[in-house]
Amino acid sequence: MSEDPVQEQAPASDVPQDADAVDAPEAPEAPEAPFDDPDTHRFECRSCGFVFDPAEGIKKLAIEPGTPFSALDPLSFRCPVCRSQTKAFKDIGPRNKPSGFEENLGYGLGVNQLTPGQKNVLIFGGFALAIAFFLSLYSLR
Ligand SMILES: [Zn+2]
Repeated sequence: MSEDPVQEQAPASDVPQDADAVDAPEAPEAPEAPFDDPDTHRFECRSCGFVFDPAEGIKKLAIEPGTPFSALDPLSFRCPVCRSQTKAFKDIGPRNKPSGFEENLGYGLGVNQLTPGQKNVLIFGGFALAIAFFLSLYSLR
């Protein structure tokens, strides 16, 4: 009674897609991404909006370019604009990089969420639409 060959076949054809989506074996969370070094993070003064950029340093305070915020002395550092202490500064992340950086970011965050199957659907769906479009042009003649 419980043996129903149709029921057994239907889930079987679904299994490869499900396993693909659940496994996602090639999406490790790399904690040390080379383009997200905390030492390159900029810090913004919450009092006046001054932004400390490690790549630029602060000439006024004789802080060399390449000095990370963490290397500043919290006892002696003062915001060059409003003289707030380091604890008034907020981590606002790395500076905006050129488009190449955003592509990397998109690749890491966005594309990894798509399974290969979904990517194929997007790619071949696009082709199918384009082909259908051209075919419709020919059929007009
Ligand atoms: Zn300030």
